[in-house]
Amino acid sequence: MSYVYYNGQEYKTRAPLTEMEGFLLASTASSLILSPLPYIGRSFQKQINKEIPNNHLYKDSFIRAFDVSGLKDKGVKLVEAQYHDVPLEYKLGHQACYDPIQKQVVLNTDKISSAGFHELGHALNSLKSKYGIKYLSKLRAPGYIIAGLMEYFAIFSRKKPKGAPRSFSDVVEDNCGKIAFIAMLPTVIEEAVASFRGVNLAKKSGVNDALIKNMKKIYLKAHATYSGKAVLGGLAVYASRKIMDLFTRPKPVPQSFGDW
Ligand SMILES: [Zn+2]
Repeated sequence: MSYVYYNGQEYKTRAPLTEMEGFLLASTASSLILSPLPYIGRSFQKQINKEIPNNHLYKDSFIRAFDVSGLKDKGVKLVEAQYHDVPLEYKLGHQACYDPIQKQVVLNTDKISSAGFHELGHALNSLKSKYGIKYLSKLRAPGYIIAGLMEYFAIFSRKKPKGAPRSFSDVVEDNCGKIAFIAMLPTVIEEAVASFRGVNLAKKSGVNDALIKNMKKIYLKAHATYSGKAVLGGLAVYASRKIMDLFTRPKPVPQSFGDW
């Protein structure tokens, strides 16, 4: 243990064991806060699997939607996962995506055509959009990296007391929960717009109202996986930071007025 001074006040640094307790508590709090995420993911998977027996009712409309979307003119290709050499989860219909680099919509159209409209929505966002929506998808990867970095920032021990002058990294540490949340927002918004455009395409290409209702359920649950990650991720980072602050910040030493 040692002492540090800021503005004439003496502070005592914390014992390594106290710092370790803080770290364990922060990790526990973080995993508790994030614990609903797998449940949200499973609920989405269940919802999409429920529609697999209805796939034939979606498929023709999906192919039509792709034809009329204008995406072909932009060079977008549809890769039907069941006939191509793609990763297994795409073949099995557990996963679908729009790859903006290859300009490919990849999915098993014999299983999850219901999800395909959303992927067309991503392609439209990337290639045919207004109001800067296309930039949101470009912020996806950097957003994930920044949010991940904030988890790391949250568990640093604080070497300075609360009132000490703050450096740039102190400001980042002070706000890491907010930064983690904000970094995810472009993805949360872009996912919502992709679903909105997907549902519109489905309506226009002849998917009936009852199925549109089911599609909306799938898309809402899919979206909850993203908004959940943003909100709970931000909260987990925030809580870890607060706990680490409590356990690792040097504490003021009560001022003594000398011996009489
Ligand atoms: Zn998506």
